[in-house]
Amino acid sequence: EAKRQGPGRQQFYEAALSAGAEQRLAVESGLRLAMAQRQFRLHYQPQLDLRDGTLVGVEALVRWQHPQWGLVGPARFIPVAEEAGLIDEVGLWVLMEACRQLRAWDAAGLHIPAISVNCSVRQLDADRLPAQVAAVLAATGLAAQRLEMEITESTLMRDPERAIAALLALQAQGVRLAIDDFGTGHSSLAYLKRLPVTRLKIDRAFVSGIGNDPNDEQICRTVIELARNLRLQTLAEGVEHAHEAEFLRNEGCDLAQGFHYARPLPPEALAAWLAAHRAEAAV
Ligand code: C2E
Ligand code: MG
Ligand code: MG
Ligand code: MG
Repeated sequence: EAKRQGPGRQQFYEAALSAGAEQRLAVESGLRLAMAQRQFRLHYQPQLDLRDGTLVGVEALVRWQHPQWGLVGPARFIPVAEEAGLIDEVGLWVLMEACRQLRAWDAAGLHIPAISVNCSVRQLDADRLPAQVAAVLAATGLAAQRLEMEITESTLMRDPERAIAALLALQAQGVRLAIDDFGTGHSSLAYLKRLPVTRLKIDRAFVSGIGNDPNDEQICRTVIELARNLRLQTLAEGVEHAHEAEFLRNEGCDLAQGFHYARPLPPEALAAWLAAHRAEAAV
């Protein structure tokens, strides 16, 4: 995100966000202030059924609207929030805001079926997260079945027993679970079988190889087949081109998400995109 904003800003941003411990501390104190001053924003990216193009949900992706740095992407501050012990607070805000927004869209008659929220593995605590999720669902009046939590494969496998306990408690509430960035994290098949997930998200790295790297194509096929055998849905991430969508559809992948359809959008832009998308589908 910084790349598109010109070299001057880029330098400032790099200095502030990726250098040494001092700068990291600056980000950390900035994050504390960001919570208090409501500087976080959610953007929403559509998730579509590959067969008929219908919208199945949207993924909420957090951004930091910094007064000097501009819009900061999550890769730059989520890891800092995790290390600084701030991820619970940020994560809870994201969850509440995403569910609130979906209900606001309901009230506006937009009919968005579901919302996916990214969850840090540090939030996956069986003693805390299920109660937080229950409180958010109660506060917003959102049905649990319309909420999906995404956890990356690589972090899940760091402490699978702990993750399984928390995920089972969420599943018991009716919340749906997805493994994000699948294919990059060395899942043990024994654990995969025990995780109460309903969806695998094929990592963008493999999707972008479709059409030029036979190994990536084979990995996509293998993940789709594995998911089918385990009765899991597949969603391909980072679909940027029509030929990728075509390949995935032919291989039996269920869902897709990516710039080919829409970038992550602020709420007003998502509503406008949806109106245009549905008008197009109707003709
Ligand atoms: P992710 O959950 O795998 O999200 C997909 C990322 O790929 C997003 O980057 C999205 O903007 C980007 N993307 C989507 N379609 C395309 C495409 O067609 N091409 C390309 N090149 N990129 C595409 P973003 O928003 O920068 O998020 C990066 C990561 O930060 C996310 O990866 C997720 O792991 C994490 N993240 C985002 N929001 C949250 C949050 O609220 N909580 C936590 N814990 N992590 C979050
Ligand atoms: Mg995700
Ligand atoms: Mg991903
Ligand atoms: Mg990712």
